[in-house]
Amino acid sequence: MKELKDDAVVLRTYKSGESDRVVVLWTRNHGKIRVFAKGIRKPTSKIGGSLEPLSYVKVHLAQSKGDLYIAKNVQLIDQLKTLRGDYDRINAGYGVVEVIDAIPSDDVADEGIFELLTRVLLSLDNPEFHPMLIPASFYFKLLAHDGSEPVVEHCVNCEKTGPLVSFDAQMGGTLCATCRSGVSISADGLALIRRILGGDLAGVLRDASPAGAGEIMAIAQDSIEQHFGKRLKVARSTPPLAGPKDAR
Ligand SMILES: [Zn+2]
Repeated sequence: MKELKDDAVVLRTYKSGESDRVVVLWTRNHGKIRVFAKGIRKPTSKIGGSLEPLSYVKVHLAQSKGDLYIAKNVQLIDQLKTLRGDYDRINAGYGVVEVIDAIPSDDVADEGIFELLTRVLLSLDNPEFHPMLIPASFYFKLLAHDGSEPVVEHCVNCEKTGPLVSFDAQMGGTLCATCRSGVSISADGLALIRRILGGDLAGVLRDASPAGAGEIMAIAQDSIEQHFGKRLKVARSTPPLAGPKDAR
């Protein structure tokens, strides 16, 4: 029986039978993995508390039938107490794991995505950072990781450097007044997206309500939907208190 040990983040879980769940993990070295967690919904379960969505864990797994694994041991790497205690932070985290779950890459390891994901969790757990722009920032970083970083330094159509007045998710960047398409972008919004992509993410996240935040959140959402070609329902609507569990 094949066994593996790895670091992982729980993307979501769904019910299976009376007292069991299937837990979907994104692992550092083995990509996306599904774990059949027998008895996890019983109050006596030893692993139940450590396999909730957004848990950051070390796992020891053994291959079961097909592509399902069973958990031999699970340990929390970080309890993420600040994240766990704040509904806005949890919601922001759900938006991010939903996008990762939408990545069509079962069994394909991508350590870069794992690194981005754990940085999101630790940022959401950092009381100095405001959670509002963490999902949008993550979507931009994920686009960059996939080789589709938005163009924000010049017009994506004619390459003129300014003034840039709109952003078109389909074209993948900003446009000048002559070429304009997509949605309007303000000078504040443009400055914000440049800071996020240009290395000042920490500065952006320390600001409770940076000017242009609403615009940037909508642009990030459109861009990531364009990239994956599907509408992301958790990130766009307010999820129920139970989160994305039992979504299917
Ligand atoms: Zn142009």
